[in-house]
Amino acid sequence: MELEEDASRMDLGGGDVSFEGPVVAAMNIVRHQDNLLIKGVATGTITGECFRCLDAFRQSLRQEFTVYAERKPDGGIRGLDRELLTDHYLCFHDGVSLDMGGEVRESLLLGIPLQPLCRPDCKGLCAGCGANLNSEPCTCAKRAESPAPSSVKI
Ligand SMILES: [Zn+2]
Ligand SMILES: [Zn+2]
Repeated sequence: MELEEDASRMDLGGGDVSFEGPVVAAMNIVRHQDNLLIKGVATGTITGECFRCLDAFRQSLRQEFTVYAERKPDGGIRGLDRELLTDHYLCFHDGVSLDMGGEVRESLLLGIPLQPLCRPDCKGLCAGCGANLNSEPCTCAKRAESPAPSSVKI
C-alpha cells in the first residue's frame, strides 16, 4: 500500500530545512484482530543550506517507521494510551479510516540531519578568506606571501 501527499500540505515546515514535492509512504499493514501493525518507509526531498559551505542543497530522505493502531475504545482514549498517542507510537482507527499523517510526518522530521551537508565530504568555507573550498582554492597563503609595502608615505 502506498500513499502520497504533497509536502506543503503536511505541515513539515520549520527550521532551516524544508520539504519539497511529494512525500510517499509505502507501508505494509499486518492485521491481528482489531489491531494493526504498520511498518513503512516514508520518503521525501529536503532542501536547505549546507551547514558547512552555506550552499543550497537538495537531498532525499528515507525514514522507516513502525506504528501500532488499535481500534478506538468506546469510552474514549485515556491514560497510557493517550501518552502513547502523543508520542506517536500508537494511533487509533475506527474500523473505517486511519490517519497516518502525524506518524509519517514525525518520522520524516526525525530524519532531518541537525547539520545537513550538501555532500558528505563538503570542505566548507575557509575561515580565513571565506572561499568555498569545494569550488575555489583558498587564497590565504597567497595573501600572506604578497609583500608588504617597503615604504609608506603619509
Ligand atoms: Zn557544503
Ligand atoms: Zn583561505
